[in-house]
Amino acid sequence: AKKRGRNRSFWFEPQMEDELRFRNELEAGIRKGIAAGEFVPYYEQQIDLESGKLVGFEMLARWQSPQYGLVSPEIFIPIAEEIDAIGILSECLIRQALQDAKQWDQSLTLSVNISPIQLRDPWFAQKLIQLLVEAGFPPARLEIEITESCLHENIGAVRSIVSSLKNQGVKISLDDFGTGYSSLSQLRSLPFDRLKIDRSFVTELSGEANGKELVEAIVSLGKGLSLPITAEGVESNDVLQHLQTMGELKGQGYLYGKPEDAETTRRRLAELNML
Ligand code: C2E
Ligand code: CA
Ligand code: CA
Ligand code: CA
Repeated sequence: AKKRGRNRSFWFEPQMEDELRFRNELEAGIRKGIAAGEFVPYYEQQIDLESGKLVGFEMLARWQSPQYGLVSPEIFIPIAEEIDAIGILSECLIRQALQDAKQWDQSLTLSVNISPIQLRDPWFAQKLIQLLVEAGFPPARLEIEITESCLHENIGAVRSIVSSLKNQGVKISLDDFGTGYSSLSQLRSLPFDRLKIDRSFVTELSGEANGKELVEAIVSLGKGLSLPITAEGVESNDVLQHLQTMGELKGQGYLYGKPEDAETTRRRLAELNML
């Protein structure tokens, strides 16, 4: 572009200047939003695919911004990570989620997503256990979901966090399985309790390509490692039927419902007599 910016910003495209302004605005909004309690947990049902029974919920963060409306975690989680606010944000979400989940039927688990950045905090395990104690929430009902990219962090530090949490009874799931670059030996390097097959593979079950073989291979890998499996992104009956032929799986996805806020979740549970 020939049009030059004002003064010192001569090397800036005007559009870049707008983007930077927006970015600064978002960062400030996130910081303020954390303090103002604008971040809230939503809950997605997790189902035992064989019986169709509800077994738990995954907490998925939402930003109820007065300025932007309901904002997706795909937008604000990466920014919160970059501005070093992910720890405090996650803490305030988990604190709310534990209060909600405490009211639910004792058979229901709560899964929460943990960013690789959080595992760099040597106090992470202690902080999480503190939250459980504070809420009076049974550790065995909590599952943390970590992604394969966590395996590229300082593996010794991650292993010590995982073992502290497991000693307390907290469960550990490997999230988005198949999308990362972990080798099978890395998969064995942490004592996972569950594998979650990423939605991108599950969706392929309804396609013509080799989708079915791929998911079957992942499921038998899980079986070989004695790891229970959850399939993400179950959107259709067609996909459900395929999954049901593969053994005892859990699943979640739009077939069962989109993530809902705490109040809607309560009403759903009241109807099921699970409050
Ligand atoms: P994820 O952990 O893979 O979560 C599943 C995502 O897929 C969720 O998106 C969920 O709403 C969406 N989903 C579930 N079922 C279906 C389906 O049947 N079809 C389709 N098309 N989508 C489905 P969401 O809520 O936008 O979250 C996106 C990602 O943000 C999550 O992916 C997770 O990695 C991250 N995230 C969410 N909450 C938190 C959090 O509190 N902390 C951290 N660190 N990350 C979070
Ligand atoms: Ca997840
Ligand atoms: Ca996923
Ligand atoms: Ca994820």
